[in-house]
Amino acid sequence: MSIVKKIYMFDFGWLGGDGGWFLPGWGAMTYSDKAPQRVWVEIPVTGVLMDTDIGYIVFDTGVAPNAWQTHTRGVLEAFPVIKFSDENRIEKQLNNLGLKPSDIAFVIQSHLHFDHVGQTNIFKDAKVPIIVNKKELQSALMMLWMGKEGAYQSANLNDLKGANWLIVDLPMFELAEGIRLYFSGGHTSGHMVLSVKTKKGNTYFFTGDHLHLPRELETESKGWLLSDYDEWLTFVKQLKIWEKANNAKIIICHDPDFWNKYPRIPTYLE
Ligand SMILES: [Zn+2]
Repeated sequence: MSIVKKIYMFDFGWLGGDGGWFLPGWGAMTYSDKAPQRVWVEIPVTGVLMDTDIGYIVFDTGVAPNAWQTHTRGVLEAFPVIKFSDENRIEKQLNNLGLKPSDIAFVIQSHLHFDHVGQTNIFKDAKVPIIVNKKELQSALMMLWMGKEGAYQSANLNDLKGANWLIVDLPMFELAEGIRLYFSGGHTSGHMVLSVKTKKGNTYFFTGDHLHLPRELETESKGWLLSDYDEWLTFVKQLKIWEKANNAKIIICHDPDFWNKYPRIPTYLE
């Protein structure tokens, strides 16, 4: 029996970026077009809150409210936070449901890029376990230790030193009946995708950043936001099989059409 009653979606604002990050060749020069038009894409930043029999579980926490003050300039030039207000704070959204950070049983990180771990620090004092893949934490810390500030930001990870980390080092980690984390790699070296089966019998895959745009799934290709294409494609093929076999729904967390497809708090999926 699944333990998941409701799935709420967090609205963490919007980012912008060049289309080439998402799809290869989008706006790139070709033999027959030496002056292509570049494409600017705007994507929502979202996360998930599950209401379960073992408590509330958060999947990804969006961007830090003070990103423009604390992050290095390069990452915000490439991926500017173009919309973020007090309404996008995770405390505010939890509060709208009558919840506070200490009411959360687990926080799950798809990965540790700045637009997924930005507000995880609010769970540190309450000692909420923060679930992350071992490879992901290792590679994020290694990059920062080498002085390579990019999508991983010291401002986020320094804040989480001494937090209640729960490190996962398995191809599949089952947190509870109906809640599974699959190692997907591809986008980052320790990226994980969340699958949720609800009490109603629906199965959802929340893809984190394995996919940004639905066209990546359709065309089985991804732009510059890729660390390992072979690993990435293998998991995309697997997702497509699960989608058919389990009649599952693939929810693309940065889908530009996200808020036309899925409900806002206090409405939920079941
Ligand atoms: Zn992202």
